[in-house]
Amino acid sequence: MHELSLAEAINKTIKDLCERSAWARVRRIVLKIGHMRQVDPELLSFAFNVVAKGTVSEDAELSILELPIVFKCHACGKKIGSEAMTFICQDCGSTDVELLSGMELTIESMEVEGRQVL
Ligand SMILES: [Zn+2]
Repeated sequence: MHELSLAEAINKTIKDLCERSAWARVRRIVLKIGHMRQVDPELLSFAFNVVAKGTVSEDAELSILELPIVFKCHACGKKIGSEAMTFICQDCGSTDVELLSGMELTIESMEVEGRQVL
C-alpha cells in the first residue's frame, strides 16, 4: 500500500520538525498532493491516523488538497488539464509540453498548539 509508506514519511517529517522546534502537539496539517502521485486521500487519511498514534500528530486534523494535472504546450501555447498521464498535447499532438501542476507532494501548512507554523 503506497499510502502507508507515504503516511509514514509525512509523519516522520512532522515528527522531526516538532522535535527540532520543541512543539508538543500538532492540531492541523494541510497536505498538497498532485493527481500524478495517484494517492487515494481516504486511504492516506486512514493510514496517517494509524501511524500518528502515540506521536505529536495523534488526533491532528488532516486535510488533503488535491491538485489536478495541468500541462502547458510549448508548440501551441495551450494549457491542458488532463486526467490521463500522457505527455502529449491533445490539441496539436506536440510532445513539447511542460507540467505546471500535478506532481505536488508537500505539507502546505501546519497548526501547532493553536499557532500557524507553516
Ligand atoms: Zn499544443
